[in-house]
Formats: sequence, structure tokens, C-alpha cells
Amino acid sequence: ASFDDIDLSPAMRESLRQAGYEHPSPVQSGVIPVALTGRDVLGQARTGTGKTASFAIPILERFEEGKSKSPFAIVLAPTRELAVQVRDEFDKLAYGRKIKSVPLYGGKPIKAQITKLERGADVVVGTPGRVLDLLGRGALRLDEVKIVVLDEADRMLDIGFRPDIEKILRRCPTARQTLLLSATVDPAIERLSKRYMIEPVTLDF
Ligand code: AMP
Repeated sequence: ASFDDIDLSPAMRESLRQAGYEHPSPVQSGVIPVALTGRDVLGQARTGTGKTASFAIPILERFEEGKSKSPFAIVLAPTRELAVQVRDEFDKLAYGRKIKSVPLYGGKPIKAQITKLERGADVVVGTPGRVLDLLGRGALRLDEVKIVVLDEADRMLDIGFRPDIEKILRRCPTARQTLLLSATVDPAIERLSKRYMIEPVTLDF
């Protein structure tokens, strides 16, 4: 497989070159073309498979500079470590472009994160508890969100984040794209998907 088989912008091709990504992983070959069409995707993928870029690339491709004042995309992740990793991948793939991605997680003073949000965020990557806290304080707005990602959704449900995730999803516009990535797809994940996704394309790796 080659990235040339996927319809990507010159800016993204340059980012991939800079990142040293020569060939798409199977998850990327599967998810990216479908996500680029705007369809919802339920992808069964483990960590280490390149799943992060599989959603970061379509998000960055659909981002239009200067279009919105509040986040265009939100990624929910189970842990601070993952939120930071995902944010780093966004930065890597947004090479040379003005796209601000901000990680939001607990265990750190909320003030600094509020300041970052005030300066403008295009993509936020956060753990559900902290995201909900920032929403409650009016520091984060999700009414311009076009794409939502639930990353490692099974782990988020295991931690008990389901109520927080649902509250956050209800704050996002219903006209949006939702991408769900999970190592396992069990009935709890299927229920979440039925309730908050529209005719998702299911992909299994
Ligand atoms: P992930 O599964 O998203 O955590 O990615 C695992 C690792 O693979 C990360 O260090 C990525 O930077 C790297 N990676 C992702 N996609 C590619 C690719 N197409 N070619 C080479 N490395 C990649």
C-alpha cells in the first residue's frame, strides 16, 4: 500500500514526508479513505497500529484555517499519557501549518489549560473528566465541532467514563462526524455506537 493511493493534499504529503511515514499501516489504509468521505467509522484497532494518524490525517485534511473560533475537532482519550501522545501526533502531521492542538487532562492546574483555550484551540485532545470540567466552567465550547473521536473507547468505558462521554457528546452538534476506535468491540461499545453514531462503517483489523 502507498499513501499515493489515498487522496491527500500536498501539505499532508509534505507532513508525511517530514514524519518519515512512507507507507500507510493497514488501519490507515482502511480508515483514512472512509473518514475523508465524512462517514462515521467504528474501527477495531489496537495501540501501535498507527490508529492515531488514521483519525488525525482526515481531521487535518478537513480543517480550514481561520474558519472557527472554537475547536473544530475533539478527541477523547482514556489517560493523560494517551492525550499527550495523540496531541504530539497532531503536531507532527500538521507540519508547517498553523493548527493549534491543546491537551486537556486532570492532575494539572486547570488555569493553564483555560489560558491555552482562551488563546484559541483548533483541536482539543482530552480526558473526559477534565473536558467536562472545562465545559462546566464555560472555558470550552463545542458548538463548532465537526469531528469527534473516541479513542480507546473500550478503556474509557472500563474506567467508568461513560456518563462523562455521553454528556460531552450531547454538547456537540448532532451534524458531525464521529470516529470510534477500540481494541475490542463488545455490546457496551455497540450500544454507544448505536446511540451516538450515524450508520457507521465498521472496520476490523
Ligand atoms: P499509534 O498506534 O497511533 O500509537 O502509532 C504507533 C507508532 O507508529 C507511533 O510512533 C507513530 O508515530 C508511528 N506511525 C504511525 N503511522 C506510521 C506510518 N505510516 N509509518 C511509520 N510509522 C508510523
